Amino acid sequence: MHKYHLEYEEKGLGQLFSKTKSQSILKILLAECDAAGVEIITECSIKGIKQTEDTQNSRFQLATSGGAFTCQSLVIATGGLSIPTVGATGFGYDTAKQFGLGVTPRYASLVPFTLKGELLTRAQSLAGVSMPVTVSCREQSFAEALLFTHKGLSGPAILQISNYWYPGNGIEIDFLPGENLVSLLDSWQKEGTKRELKSLLARHLPKRFVKVWLATREIAKAIHNKPMAQYSKADIELLTRHFHHWKCAPAGTEGYGTAEITRGGVNTEDISSKTFETKQVTGLFFIGEVLDVTGWLGGYNLQWAWSSGYCAAQYV
Ligand SMILES: Cc1cc2nc3c(=O)[nH]c(=O)nc-3n(C[C@H](O)[C@H](O)[C@H](O)COP(=O)(O)OP(=O)(O)OC[C@H]3O[C@@H](n4cnc5c(N)ncnc54)[C@H](O)[C@@H]3O)c2cc1C
Repeated sequence: MHKYHLEYEEKGLGQLFSKTKSQSILKILLAECDAAGVEIITECSIKGIKQTEDTQNSRFQLATSGGAFTCQSLVIATGGLSIPTVGATGFGYDTAKQFGLGVTPRYASLVPFTLKGELLTRAQSLAGVSMPVTVSCREQSFAEALLFTHKGLSGPAILQISNYWYPGNGIEIDFLPGENLVSLLDSWQKEGTKRELKSLLARHLPKRFVKVWLATREIAKAIHNKPMAQYSKADIELLTRHFHHWKCAPAGTEGYGTAEITRGGVNTEDISSKTFETKQVTGLFFIGEVLDVTGWLGGYNLQWAWSSGYCAAQYV
């Protein structure tokens, strides 16, 4: 980066962003490829791979839309299944199976959740509302922003937790992270405020969200028009449940059309963690997202793709 005078800034801890357009990164990568004598061929899809009898220079024969190629080392970097419209294919997984490697089940991940029925109606009525939350699933939690959408739930908090979610799992959301609703209610009760719960909660949460959440059948039935001083222990528990421990079961995810990554992939037990060569076939390497390695949001997946590529490059 210094060599190319690329200006960058650290936004989050260890997260470096270029101050200029992504084109400037592309230019650096192309310049480095040029310097190393790399020949880049685009618009060329690999149709099939054959292992030859040759154990030295021409170990693999490739049939491609751009003709036949032979090579000594073959690095499979075909990524995951996300965004098929820009070229994602399952070719890497098929190749792994062809050479006897294991492939773990794959799921669309870093992906928004879809909801059904009353939950979907609720999300749709809040589409566009974003707020900080803590979301949990299978003992993992993320404190980030949530976004209601026309299909369900999105935003960084949801994308992060989707990495841990399996169909059928529930998720739990704390809409008031860092606050304690019981204490807030207690202080409002002690103040003897005449203000409505709706406007008091709106000090801490988006107004539209408060309106919709308080209108849910269970809450409306329990506290509709009740003065705050008369809230029972059960009412307070009910509010706490809906605002701090809201549970829902997503109907599914938006799938590979929107997912940022594919969770699962070529079994890492079949790959050397030093060279990324397969244990089964000399000269065959797998790197990047095609492997069963999944990172959080924040650049970790790109970092994995580049780092694994760098390691393999030392041994091809
Ligand atoms: C919308 C979106 C946003 C993302 N944002 C982030 C982010 O902010 N931070 C982050 O870390 N990660 C992000 N990711 C994930 C990240 O881009 C990937 O993890 C990373 O690019 C994987 O690199 P890769 O080299 O393994 O595969 P890819 O970059 O997916 O490259 C695979 C290539 O192989 C080609 N290919 C597939 N099959 C064949 C075939 N049969 N013949 C020839 N070519 C083939 C594909 O066309 C593609 O060009 C995002 C992904 C998406 C889709």
